[in-house]
Amino acid sequence: MTARQKLLASLASVVASAPSAPPRHRVATNSRATIENCDKARFSPWQRRYRDQILEQVPEVDAVVGTGEVERILEAVHGELRVLPAEPPAFLYHDLTPRILTTPRHAAYIKIAEGCDHPCTFCIIPQLRGKFRSRRFESVLREAENLAAAGTREITLIGQDTTSYGEDLGLRDGLAQLLAALANVDELLWVRFLYAYPNRVTQKLLDTLAAHPRLAKYMDMPLQHASRNMLARMKRGSHGDAFLQLLERVRATIPGVSLRTSFIVGFPGETEKDFDELCDFVRAGQFDWMGVFEYSDVDNAGSFALDGKVAAEVVTDRRHRLMAIQKKISREKLKRWKGRTETALIEGPSKDNPLVWEARLQGMAPEIDGKFYLTDIELPDGRFADTGDAARVEITKTDAYDLIGRVVEILPQPEKRPLVNEPPTHEKLHRITTGAPLRVLG
Ligand code: SF4
Repeated sequence: MTARQKLLASLASVVASAPSAPPRHRVATNSRATIENCDKARFSPWQRRYRDQILEQVPEVDAVVGTGEVERILEAVHGELRVLPAEPPAFLYHDLTPRILTTPRHAAYIKIAEGCDHPCTFCIIPQLRGKFRSRRFESVLREAENLAAAGTREITLIGQDTTSYGEDLGLRDGLAQLLAALANVDELLWVRFLYAYPNRVTQKLLDTLAAHPRLAKYMDMPLQHASRNMLARMKRGSHGDAFLQLLERVRATIPGVSLRTSFIVGFPGETEKDFDELCDFVRAGQFDWMGVFEYSDVDNAGSFALDGKVAAEVVTDRRHRLMAIQKKISREKLKRWKGRTETALIEGPSKDNPLVWEARLQGMAPEIDGKFYLTDIELPDGRFADTGDAARVEITKTDAYDLIGRVVEILPQPEKRPLVNEPPTHEKLHRITTGAPLRVLG
């Protein structure tokens, strides 16, 4: 492998191994290529090394910019910049930032916060994305209203740490407040959020989810492990028993809630006993959806220096064993859906099989959970369900991870309303830093 190939491979592995890492982009025009996301904000030697290596070994790259410099990509593309001056990653888009929806129009993501202040030792996101900072409440609300007016039926709130939303703005229970406000946007069928941090899940948040029909009865809460020893080495704290109590509280407050989690297996120091503890926890937790990641080293992550590395084949074996436990749980849980009629959002023709369509129930988040295949989208009166429709669907069969069914009723479309117009402004883009007042770029 040449030095250049090695560099590209190591960059790819950094991208692949960062849990929840937002996608990285290679931005190219006809004549210029720019690599985004190589933050040099904190000037870590690691980041500097990659920046310098990229420029030296990949001559096609014309500029390297940080994730905090999104607004300046055009300068780089036009050739006015090669390496941007150092600035902390403070970029945060808002409702006036031009945005291209990369998802189908009926289901959109909204990022409500950026960065993270947690110290998880396996994760380099705080180094890449900077300190936690929330978008303004009104900005998120306005973006949701505009998306809804343009035809979006489901909004998924994301951020590296959604459950801390608003803390830096002085909001108490900020996520609960935001969800309650979004629950009043009439055109929306569902609003959900991803990536709850377990010790930030408050009773107020659970009560809010339970109270509003438009808030999906769904919670994604990556727990990473259940062994006290492993969670301490991950610098996340807590333990399986505390998690089980939390799950009980979530289920008691939100009847019918679907729970998703994810774990890392093979973290440095994970013994067979730690892993058994995790297996027992998964059996007891009875999650609706679960993902398992194999630990792999990322230099500059805190866990890189930890002893007790687990052999790669053991890590893979543990992932398979854990998923086998979950597969049985999932199969049993899905069986209970057979014969029921539920509200679903029609996703459109399936990419897996040209003969079927896909839909989702409120307990299924876009892209990550199991699928709902529709074998029939035609009603007896000859009408067909279409992409983005809300419909009543009958579940006729179940599988280990997927449901199969047919449309039995198409629900009425919401009434159209105009976009929320802002007064004309000279300001195109804004930058918000944690706790700092809004700063307008010239
Ligand atoms: S909570 Fe932990 S895993 Fe998630 S982004 Fe923050 S540091 Fe990374």
